[in-house]
Amino acid sequence: MILDPKSSAESAEVAAETMRHLWWLRDSGVREVSAAPSDPLRAIRADLGDCTRCKLHGGRTHIVFGVGDPAAQLLFVGEGPGADEDQQGEPFVGRAGQLLTKMIEAMGFARSDVYIANVVKCRPPGNRDPEPDEIEACEPFLKAQIAAIRPRVIVALGRFAVQTLLHDATPISRLRGKWREYEGVKLMPTFHPAYLLRSPAEKKPAWEDLQLVMKEFGKSPSPR
Ligand code: URA
Repeated sequence: MILDPKSSAESAEVAAETMRHLWWLRDSGVREVSAAPSDPLRAIRADLGDCTRCKLHGGRTHIVFGVGDPAAQLLFVGEGPGADEDQQGEPFVGRAGQLLTKMIEAMGFARSDVYIANVVKCRPPGNRDPEPDEIEACEPFLKAQIAAIRPRVIVALGRFAVQTLLHDATPISRLRGKWREYEGVKLMPTFHPAYLLRSPAEKKPAWEDLQLVMKEFGKSPSPR
């Protein structure tokens, strides 16, 4: 067997991704698995490999591919990993992630019911905004993930998710709360949870946006 460092790093990433998927299956109540060679998300992850397509690869600890139900009806798309996500290899696990998890649960879903992905899969240094060439390099993988999952609804969290999917530079404050369409899938633009942490007054309109999504799934908010 030839051990080259690039392919062994790649194998480690794929193994970590497989473990995350197995944990997700266990948390979803699955007790037995058989080999599923045609899992399209696994194929997309394998295609991404130990990616060096943009300059973000130099500073990352982990590629943050995505997490959740590969057949989810509801997909959340964020911007890109922060420090916690880079360390753990899973999207939305830091403070903004905890808020997102609360939002998902308030909508009547479990985090394991939905799928969560980002526009860029590697952490921009110092949490700066992702740059156009980085978004362009990563966009085909997000598109492929959406095509594989075929969700009923996409919730685009913040400016970068909305602009990447809709190619519309209108400010998020004007786009939010109005249904749009991405490749035949209903898309709801709303504020990013990190923005909501900085601007708690915007939680109310964001919740109104999510209630429109709940309505789409025949769900109503539980009385408090
Ligand atoms: N912000 C994002 O946009 N994505 C994450 O995964 C975490 C924070």
